[in-house]
Amino acid sequence: MIDLRSDTVTQPTEAMRMAMAQAEVGDDVYGEDPTVNRLEIEAAARIGKEAALFLPSGTMGNQIAILAHTHRGDEIILDEDSHIFCYEKGGAAALAGVQTRTLKGSHGFIEPCRIREAIRDENIHAPHTGLLCLENTHNRAGGRVIAPDRLNAMADTAHEFNIPVHLDGARIFNAALALQIDAKELTEKMDSVMFCLSKGLAAPVGSILAGNKSFIGVARQYRKLLGGGMRQAGILAAAGLVSLNTMITRLVDDHRNALRLAEGIGEIGGLKINISNVQTNILIFNIDELHVDANEFLERLASEGVLAGAFGPKIIRFVTHKDIDLEAVDQAIAILRRTVHQFTAM
Ligand SMILES: *Cc1c(COP(=O)(O)O)cnc(C)c1O
Repeated sequence: MIDLRSDTVTQPTEAMRMAMAQAEVGDDVYGEDPTVNRLEIEAAARIGKEAALFLPSGTMGNQIAILAHTHRGDEIILDEDSHIFCYEKGGAAALAGVQTRTLKGSHGFIEPCRIREAIRDENIHAPHTGLLCLENTHNRAGGRVIAPDRLNAMADTAHEFNIPVHLDGARIFNAALALQIDAKELTEKMDSVMFCLSKGLAAPVGSILAGNKSFIGVARQYRKLLGGGMRQAGILAAAGLVSLNTMITRLVDDHRNALRLAEGIGEIGGLKINISNVQTNILIFNIDELHVDANEFLERLASEGVLAGAFGPKIIRFVTHKDIDLEAVDQAIAILRRTVHQFTAM
């Protein structure tokens, strides 16, 4: 199977399994796991923040950020296509008790004037605007990156009103690599940042939430509240350290493979793809011209050996990762061509 559903399907490397087997561990709820402590220190340094917290998932990281930055009844501003709004089971409402004010962005960029308009006046009737959430790379925009000037323009607008900014940077290192900058340049103005170790960086489990010391102190308490306090978690953190230290620069291979896949798709009649949107390891394409919906198309692809996901009734998403090599890319293009042919030759 050529599994292009997500970079979350990556298998841990041999080096990770070795590091996990040998990890020095302790009880992390007591702050006594030396491997978790090391990961948190290294992760904070790499992302340019004072402190960091190791978490079971990226969703928990985003939800803890919302809990720690807001109060019940607040309103948070976010892109209508954001992961937090679309894919976290309504957690912002269910857990933090905040209401969401979604704005229409362009590939994750919301015009600062729109953000300004959405920020509430302090008034007895209105909810308090408690947080702005941003996402980079942007998943539903097909892995597009937001450059630092645009990211900072959005953050500056929130900060003018003393509203904190959280960055969902699940794939922040993909963004930094595509922009050829240090990830710190993307996080400098963010009050908190979440990134995943378990996606392209190939760790089996885990994400990081980073921010200043007092924010992480509060976040640590919310992690416990949500049941995310883990004990000898150094077994998992050991793999995360291998991710941070050895798996970031190789993401260029995933970007190159996504582009090659996109170029192949561009040559298949009946499929529509905007190649200039393929900037990292995600690509989305349209099957409007085929007499089939995304689910049936995916079933047919799976029966031929390619797994992918749907982003709409006529939109397919592919994600490249370390377990997809050039040969798999070329095979996927050939299978795609054959499958498309079945739905055009009718
Ligand atoms: C994957 C992802 C997350 C969090 O994912 P988990 O599966 O909970 O680790 C958050 N935001 C974005 C943009 C993502 O792609």
